[in-house]
Amino acid sequence: MTERAPTGSSAASAPRIVHRACPTCEASCGLDVEIDPKARRVLRIEGDREDQRSQGYLCPKAYAMKEIYEDPERLKRPLRKRPDGSWEELDWDTALDYAAGRLKAIKEKHGANANGFYIGNPTGHNVGGQLYLPPLLNALGTQRSFSAGTMDQFPQNVALHTMLGEPWMFPIPDLERTEFFVCMGGNPLVSQGSLMSGPNIKKRLRAIVDRGGRVVTIDPRRTETAEIATDHVFIKPGSDAYFLLSVCQILFAEGLVRPGRLADFTDGIDRVRDLAARYSPERVADATGIAPETTRRLVRDFCAAKGAWYGRIGLCTQEFGTLASWLVYVVNVLTGRLDAEGGMLFPRPATGRSEPGRPVEPFVYGRYKTVARGIPEVSGQIPCGLMAEEMEEASAGEQRMRGFITVMGNPVLSAPNGERLAAAMDELEFMVSLDIYLNETTRHADLILPSTVQMEHENYDFLFETTSVRNFARWSPAVFQPEADQRDHWRILIELGARIAGAPWEVVDDLMIKGLLAMVVGPGTRCPNVTPEEAFEKLEDRHGPMRMIGALIRVGPYGDHFDEKSDGLNLRRLREAEHGLDLGPLDANRLPAALPIPRIQLAPDYVVADLDRLERALGERSRKNGLVLVGRRQIRNMNSWLHNLPALAKGPNRCTLILNPEDAKARGLESGKLVRVRSRVGEIEVECVVSDEMMPGVVSLPHGYGHTLSGTRLSVAKKKQPGACANYLTDELALDVPSGTHVANGIPVEVRAL
Ligand code: SF4
Repeated sequence: MTERAPTGSSAASAPRIVHRACPTCEASCGLDVEIDPKARRVLRIEGDREDQRSQGYLCPKAYAMKEIYEDPERLKRPLRKRPDGSWEELDWDTALDYAAGRLKAIKEKHGANANGFYIGNPTGHNVGGQLYLPPLLNALGTQRSFSAGTMDQFPQNVALHTMLGEPWMFPIPDLERTEFFVCMGGNPLVSQGSLMSGPNIKKRLRAIVDRGGRVVTIDPRRTETAEIATDHVFIKPGSDAYFLLSVCQILFAEGLVRPGRLADFTDGIDRVRDLAARYSPERVADATGIAPETTRRLVRDFCAAKGAWYGRIGLCTQEFGTLASWLVYVVNVLTGRLDAEGGMLFPRPATGRSEPGRPVEPFVYGRYKTVARGIPEVSGQIPCGLMAEEMEEASAGEQRMRGFITVMGNPVLSAPNGERLAAAMDELEFMVSLDIYLNETTRHADLILPSTVQMEHENYDFLFETTSVRNFARWSPAVFQPEADQRDHWRILIELGARIAGAPWEVVDDLMIKGLLAMVVGPGTRCPNVTPEEAFEKLEDRHGPMRMIGALIRVGPYGDHFDEKSDGLNLRRLREAEHGLDLGPLDANRLPAALPIPRIQLAPDYVVADLDRLERALGERSRKNGLVLVGRRQIRNMNSWLHNLPALAKGPNRCTLILNPEDAKARGLESGKLVRVRSRVGEIEVECVVSDEMMPGVVSLPHGYGHTLSGTRLSVAKKKQPGACANYLTDELALDVPSGTHVANGIPVEVRAL
């Protein structure tokens, strides 16, 4: 662990400062965490001014790490539900044997698909959680795989996989050099950028404007980002694909298509021209709510500057999420902005995941279908809102899901139609949750397996090095050693998987690392002179995720190639870099070498096929005039994770419905009134706020609230910020068809005064 004492203090038990990254959002800000090691308390958290990426920046959520660590309601040891509904603590061996035995028995009696699992969003913030899912999933062997991705970024994965051959190769806006930044469906001022992570995004966006550039937001809400942008354009929810097709139509019609060097390795440009031809801005204006002249002016101005066109969650979680996500990338290719300075660039992770020659799975879909409704899988994913019907005997009959694992997630609040899911969970024969809270989901489990928290384990920013606005590598130490009978998340995953498979976990772990080394060293790799056996002997750690990270870093683009490059990066040097390693700005001109396929497929058949559905919906969309609901990101929120933390839960009620003054007047509403919001699947009651930040016809509600249910241990959340659950309104049957992602933006609702 890398630590230093504050000036004037040298005793081991004296307060000292530990440097580590904040794990709470994608920005991964560097923090100075001052601790009292004797009392095992955090005294103070400040931004680390020596972290080159974050330069001392932090937001109020930096305290989440401390408050989760100190939360008296946080679970530390396994809990098993007694027949009377009360809970008893178990030791780890008993708990893991019990879970493995029940899951294995279900598999043997009813088949592998009788078990299912759900992976929640916090997994993305825990390197062990990401690297050690395979042993558990392989041991289960089930096709019933659900994740928060189908309420989040999955359309972007599908678009990238079909266009570039790689689902996780996100193009990131070059904020440091762009002159014209277009932001659709995102609110980076609040999120610090998503799939565009960078601490202090406000400063980065202001810098664009200060150097004479423009920041344009396109959103049904005038967001916090819009407040500092040079331009804001309202757009009707769910109409982004029409708008982006009209952007393409203008590019072709006005001779603005200039892909530059991309044309040498891009197929399908002419096909896009033909597909976009009928979507003039005049034809889609009713559907989008955007005047044709506004679109034309925007396109011309964008083309006249060095620009980056970016889209995020508002585009993903809508009826045509894959088309909208695809079209954002199409616009960047047609204008030559993909892989160009000031445009959309590809990070170069230290773990080598964008290097030429890496193994990448081809895009697959439709290999199997859900039982209840026959919805096809896409890249191994099934829409998470269909979990309930796959559990219900009435919907799935004998082939229903009987065993279920949740991994760091609270889908009763964060997946569609949570009330139905909660009821369906009670039909399961066995449910185990890997979670640190007894929350609205885990209260349905038979067993809860709580892991250590970020203060108690080391971490590496494995996902966010692929989405950062600058190349970086960041290791974070454990601030406190865990108690003897606590388990890290990766250990729970591998121990459970190994027990189901009937092997010692240490053997499984060694097989994993040896399998990895066999792919990344030896003839034909970047380390041709090293054998897997030699590499294995040279790894610093004996087990765990950092051993795998160490191997990947050593063979990565900055690595020491197992001692062949004397100044190269290895795990020791990474751990010594207590303020993180800034690896420089993102590079341009990485394509086509970094592509896993020979050429960009600008008009992939799989995605283009959904244009028929889009065209059919056009007339219908123009006629709709009821209210539709969209989500809202908040600075003190992260889905449902942070509501039990006093520092973040304090203040006025944040779970409010914002609506435009015209819509409020038509319903006799004013700010502070309670309203009933009803959708096809449910209804909730919330306080309303009247504001012209909303486009007329659109209302906005944050998600992750609804802490009103009994049987949880979330007393702060219940008392301070209970709110109402937006996902009780989300219709599990409304899907972006190509990706199976749920529609959380653009839900038809009725709003009435109570
Ligand atoms: S912006 Fe994100 S990473 Fe930075 S302090 Fe806030 S929550 Fe943590």
